[in-house]
Amino acid sequence: MNIEFSADDEAFRAEVRAFLAASLTPDMRRESERTTTVFADKDLAMKWQEILVDKGWAVPAWPEQHGGTNWTPNQKYIWGQECAKAHAPGLIPLGMRMLAPVLFKYGTPEQKAEYLPKILSGEHYWCQGYSEPGSGSDLSSLKTSAVKDGDDYIVNGTKIWTTHAQFADHIFCLVRTDADVKPQAGITFLLIPMNLPGIKVDPIITMADDHEVNQVFFDDVRVPQSNRVGPENEGWTVAKYLLEFERGGGGSAPGIYEALKGLKEVARREVDGGHPLMDDPSFASRIAELEIRTEALQLQELMTLERISSGGSPGPGSSLAKNTSVEINQGLSELRLEAVHYYGLPNANKISLNGFDEAWVGAEHSETAMARYLNGRAASVFGGSREVQKNIIATVVLGL
Ligand SMILES: Cc1cc2nc3c(=O)[nH]c(=O)nc-3n(C[C@H](O)[C@H](O)[C@H](O)COP(=O)(O)OP(=O)(O)OC[C@H]3O[C@@H](n4cnc5c(N)ncnc54)[C@H](O)[C@@H]3O)c2cc1C
Repeated sequence: MNIEFSADDEAFRAEVRAFLAASLTPDMRRESERTTTVFADKDLAMKWQEILVDKGWAVPAWPEQHGGTNWTPNQKYIWGQECAKAHAPGLIPLGMRMLAPVLFKYGTPEQKAEYLPKILSGEHYWCQGYSEPGSGSDLSSLKTSAVKDGDDYIVNGTKIWTTHAQFADHIFCLVRTDADVKPQAGITFLLIPMNLPGIKVDPIITMADDHEVNQVFFDDVRVPQSNRVGPENEGWTVAKYLLEFERGGGGSAPGIYEALKGLKEVARREVDGGHPLMDDPSFASRIAELEIRTEALQLQELMTLERISSGGSPGPGSSLAKNTSVEINQGLSELRLEAVHYYGLPNANKISLNGFDEAWVGAEHSETAMARYLNGRAASVFGGSREVQKNIIATVVLGL
């Protein structure tokens, strides 16, 4: 793959920069700098999505006839780099980056026509119903049942840790359609509108005091069989394909480079023993170590981009990209917290939840340090835990 940027690439970069400078509003840039949660603020992210749809740049990875840009892998990477540098809010991936590839590969023509335009326009907002109490890493043990009744399935059970279910109007769900075969062979992939009778969403507040995740309950929910993606009892294949995109379909290195830049700035401003923290060889070497790992991650993500651009999927190497980016991000949030000392101890999320709106004690860069650190811990669990990714790397990538 060619990772040198050509003159054409640089012209494209200039076009992207001009567009971002003209289109990003101050509240969008501020959101991307201040967000402490996995996803950006939903309203701002959807506003940004609308602007990108108008420009035709919302879904670079989609096939061109459905709204994709037909950019080269280099152009896609430049787009990611420039968005990170300009502090554009991240788009919510659930519909555009996770469900859409599944629909392209396994959806019927009717499903493609129904769902893809609404994912793009933002009319449909999706959440992911995979995990259940007792079925996380061991996902194939899931119990939420779907029993055929006429043209419908009747769904009963519960899903947990469902990110943004409080906002979603649709959920893509794994359900059990056969309990008498080996676990993976009795699973089906269903698309379920959240406004159907019998669905209830309860909030879960995390230790970072965020409301991002929920538990969703299904009580005799009637779902048309036409909402099934792929054949009955073959949902495991569909589910695994989606996970490749969840774990490694995007480029995280450009955002990490920006976070590294931010951390260096903090370390230059924070003084320890009369010297900027950045002059402390031990602290500087820990930043350097993260930077070196980011270089390696960038190379891997560029190779993945090339594979997706030529019609492939991220592949099992996405588990490696997931673990690496999580470890770097967690390393960054630890160093930031260390850098701001006790000013980082209060959790801004908790304080704002309790209605306290006095000025922050300490520099502005200390305000989000604790909330980010706490929220970032979840990343070694969601999308598949770190240990389980290591098992996949050992068996599927390394063939051990
Ligand atoms: C913030 C957040 C958001 C999430 N969002 C969603 C969502 O939107 N939709 C959704 O469906 N799910 C979501 N999840 C759930 C997530 O996918 C699961 O939490 C994850 O798969 C782990 O499952 P578990 O919590 O049941 O832990 P368990 O599977 O019980 O794991 C507990 C511990 O045991 C270890 N372990 C388990 N099995 C093995 C093994 N075979 N070898 C070695 N170690 C092992 C794990 O690594 C972990 O450390 C979210 C989770 C979090 C924290």
